[in-house]
Amino acid sequence: MRLVLLGAPGSGKGTQAKQISQKFGLPHISTGDILRQAVKDAIPLGLEARGYMDRGELVPDHLILNLIKERFKSPDAQKGFLLDGFPRTVAQASGLEEMLGQQGMKIDLACSLNVDREELIKRLTSRRICSGCGAIYNLLFQSPQKEGLCDKCGGRLEQRVDDQRQTVENRLEVYLRQTQPLLEFYGSRSLLRDINGNAPPEKVFQDISAILQGK
Ligand code: AMP
Repeated sequence: MRLVLLGAPGSGKGTQAKQISQKFGLPHISTGDILRQAVKDAIPLGLEARGYMDRGELVPDHLILNLIKERFKSPDAQKGFLLDGFPRTVAQASGLEEMLGQQGMKIDLACSLNVDREELIKRLTSRRICSGCGAIYNLLFQSPQKEGLCDKCGGRLEQRVDDQRQTVENRLEVYLRQTQPLLEFYGSRSLLRDINGNAPPEKVFQDISAILQGK
């Protein structure tokens, strides 16, 4: 199964993707995670991408499409995958369609997590990530047992630079302008399923699982 998870920053894509990927045995491909690792490793992709990411802007399409092309070459991506944070523009979605089409493949489903704007801002600005294992916390409704430390590995919890208020507002603008048109892109291909992302994470997971089990 080839699945796309759509939704604004903070809609819960990362949290859901981790669980879906486990339950359905699909590799979780997050362009945001790949880019953050590239920045950490200071490889050319990271050096090019960093400025855009810190400002909350999108990294240029050609860099992202190359990154995905490389990732798809790994054997684990041959039987299916779960895309998180990609595609983010119509050009990326068309590029993906073309890339898969050349191998006689296509996207099976695009699930859109829909969350109200105020809720997104609240979630993003209170999100913390473990610098050790990448676990996601939220100071409002999923705080760690010991302040500032990961329950799973004891790593230090950090706020992403782009989760600060000003950058969050910019990321939401960018989402509306550049990514929201993808709903129409996948809707017109009858691949879109809407999910109420305001619900608690367990309920969202149940709803997505039910859709995937029906496929
Ligand atoms: P995310 O973790 O998905 O919120 O991504 C963090 C940042 O990485 C975004 O704000 C963008 O700067 C960049 N990014 C991630 N995925 C993409 C993509 N598909 N297209 C362009 N930029 C991306």
